[in-house]
Amino acid sequence: MNHLTKNLTLESLEHWLRQDNAAELEKLWAAADAVRREHVGDAVHLRGLIEISNYCVRQCAYCGLAVTNPYLERYRMTDEEILECARQAHQFGYGTVVMQAGEDYGLETDRIARLVQAIKAELPLAVTLSLGERNPQELALWRTAGADRYLLRFETSDPELYAMIHPPRPGQTYSRFDLLRILRQLGYEVGSGVMIGIPGQTYRTLAHDILKFEQFDLDMIGVGPYIPNPLTPLGRGEEPLCIDPEQQVPNSELMAYKVIALTRLVCPQANIPSTTALATINRDNGRELGLSRGANVVMPNVTPVKYRTRYEIYPGKACLNETAQACQGCLKGRIRALGRFVGQGPGGRVR
Ligand code: SAM
Repeated sequence: MNHLTKNLTLESLEHWLRQDNAAELEKLWAAADAVRREHVGDAVHLRGLIEISNYCVRQCAYCGLAVTNPYLERYRMTDEEILECARQAHQFGYGTVVMQAGEDYGLETDRIARLVQAIKAELPLAVTLSLGERNPQELALWRTAGADRYLLRFETSDPELYAMIHPPRPGQTYSRFDLLRILRQLGYEVGSGVMIGIPGQTYRTLAHDILKFEQFDLDMIGVGPYIPNPLTPLGRGEEPLCIDPEQQVPNSELMAYKVIALTRLVCPQANIPSTTALATINRDNGRELGLSRGANVVMPNVTPVKYRTRYEIYPGKACLNETAQACQGCLKGRIRALGRFVGQGPGGRVR
């Protein structure tokens, strides 16, 4: 029944999410690692992350960038600063830059289009955007300007939980699921994902989330533990949904590995990062264990340190004070020590 095949059912996914037997989990890690090797190989692709603005209009109950956090010192990078980070990413041998921000309408549509064009004209990089729920016309313009990929996590597939932790913007027309479909139609490589262990998230919900990854045939899937931020309603313990404690998914390191491994099994070709959130809860070897249990991507931060410390989604983020130079040296060493190698080129979805 609970065999580790590609066709995992809701029941078998839930079984594996609840599995705590070390010998059984070894089988899960081995299966995920074998599927990873077979479908995406031993390359670990590095994506240079540029956190271009920490302004956000949204009121997400989990996120330190939310407009409701008055303690965050806000910044927006200049075009020249962003281009300089992209040049540095290229010098480090990264094949992709990811421009991420809060949902910041101070990042005007045309300005982002010009920036994408400028990066593509000067550097042989894939460009990924992660700028929140922008409208389909903007997404289309950025795609025409040359953007290759877009990341938009759906955070949880439980509509009731989602509505409580991610209040809608007044006048909002499109859901995140609508936008994922639109991004696909526009020809982007599409990335999404969820947080693991959000208060109110059940094992059944998380199993559903993993099946959604398969249903949307996602190209990139980011899954990482929810890390409480005391400057947010969720982090202060204002629990959104009352559920049976037995059903609550823990936001543990072990649970993160289970979700990475199961995600690899249901989506063998996807690019799956070993996330910063995972490295934050295990600084010694969280990234490596993620890479050994299904992941094949790492997103080293190339944001200038003076801004990086202000992109405080949650406290205590890993590598916060490391320079981009130090980060790349450290990561490449860790990848080699695993017997893997750094992927060359843009490292898009293999089919
Ligand atoms: N504004 C864009 C968006 O919402 O897609 C991109 C930036 S947003 C900060 C990037 C991701 O950070 C979110 O999709 C969410 O999963 C993650 N995140 C936010 N708060 C978090 C927390 N407390 N713990 C773990 N991950 C968190």
